[in-house]
Amino acid sequence: MTNQLPTSGAAGSWRSLPAAQQPPWPDPVLLREVTDGLSRAPELVFAEESDRLREKMAAVARGEAFLLQGGDCAETFEGTTADAINGKLRTLLQMAVALTYAASVPVVKVGRIAGQYAKPRSRPVERRDGVELPVYRGDAVNGLEFTAGSRVPDPRRLRRMYESSAATLNLVRAFTTGGLADLHQAHAWNRGFVDDSPAGRRYEELAGEIDRSLRFMAACGVDPQELRAVEFFASHEGLLLDYEEALTRTDDRTGLPYATSGHLLWIGERTRELDGAHVEYFSRIRNPIAVKLGPTATPDEALAYIERLNPQDEPGRLTFIVRMGAGQVRKRLPVLVEKVAANGASVAWVCDPMHGNTFEAASGHKTRRFEDILDEVEGFFEVHRALGTHAGGIHVELTGDDVTECIGGGDEVLVGDLHRRYETACDPRLNHRQSLELAFLVAEMLR
Ligand code: PEP
Ligand code: MN
Repeated sequence: MTNQLPTSGAAGSWRSLPAAQQPPWPDPVLLREVTDGLSRAPELVFAEESDRLREKMAAVARGEAFLLQGGDCAETFEGTTADAINGKLRTLLQMAVALTYAASVPVVKVGRIAGQYAKPRSRPVERRDGVELPVYRGDAVNGLEFTAGSRVPDPRRLRRMYESSAATLNLVRAFTTGGLADLHQAHAWNRGFVDDSPAGRRYEELAGEIDRSLRFMAACGVDPQELRAVEFFASHEGLLLDYEEALTRTDDRTGLPYATSGHLLWIGERTRELDGAHVEYFSRIRNPIAVKLGPTATPDEALAYIERLNPQDEPGRLTFIVRMGAGQVRKRLPVLVEKVAANGASVAWVCDPMHGNTFEAASGHKTRRFEDILDEVEGFFEVHRALGTHAGGIHVELTGDDVTECIGGGDEVLVGDLHRRYETACDPRLNHRQSLELAFLVAEMLR
């Protein structure tokens, strides 16, 4: 643990550049009060932890580990409950076990958690029944409720974002190191999920095999400590630069600035302008970072991100999260990967099979088809296999709850089911079964 001091200068260099997707805060004085307070608050994560994740991401880039990154599209303050957080963690641990056991590859576990409270939006306003209001931008900014009052950006929500993130991280740390994440508990992770599904049964079998392996090892006198806890990291989109700047701290080991709001931050598809504020801020922090690449991303852009964000070509520093859509990935990804590989740069390639596959069902629900999600991951693996590069991981939106937000999957959710339990504050998430099923299918691709 190091002393991390408030930073000035470097972390604020973004202010002279155009910053996309920043809320129109109505009260700049209040915003300043809140961010001043945050800049004196304890950091949420430590620089050393982010360094360790950077090393793990270097293994991902080399093809020696696989990244599993997942969680809500948008966390909410109300959704910050022990049950919800436990459900997400157990789902991710189950997926990680399926991937590790089936493919014998170490899995780097990263949540979209403890900081995923701000959303970039395609339109600044939302219209319902002839009424137009500012769009919901995440609990960090305004309220989901469709009323004029709730949609006014309130900077005090940034303080709540910090507090909710801290409460979530506290539980994550207790869960992952306090015995509950012990591999001997693999059966218990499945408990409480309504899960008489093919994937659920398959998981039970797998947990049984793991039990036998562990008993065998114990009988041989082997009981590795590594199985008693897991390393779990927190990530979110680094969207709100006032918040991120306020939580940037100088690491006293190195004298360098780190974002301490989470271990890994990414730049979203809508804020990745090369000469914009987000790229500038990200160029100043030492954390492992990622950039989302949609279907319009060009090879020259990819090289320019490498030049701007990882000029020293440090392994594990930069990850590209590709979100092209199932119909585009086979066509558009090869040129990007080829050009980056030819450049010799070490980046990790990760597949987000969610954001290029969203559509609106006739009922008005935003949804995604499980088959499209699977198809995009398959396309991503095919491209890397053909080029001799590494499919480094998956980035998914999921919950441990039994929601009906994405359609399809073995235990089929139909379009007509969407209304039954549609709870997301933003994009549709895989439910527990769909998440497990995806993990088993990806494990086969990895093998
Ligand atoms: C997201 O991750 O929720 C998101 C908005 O993704 P993208 O930036 O890729 O559209
Ligand atoms: Mn999303």
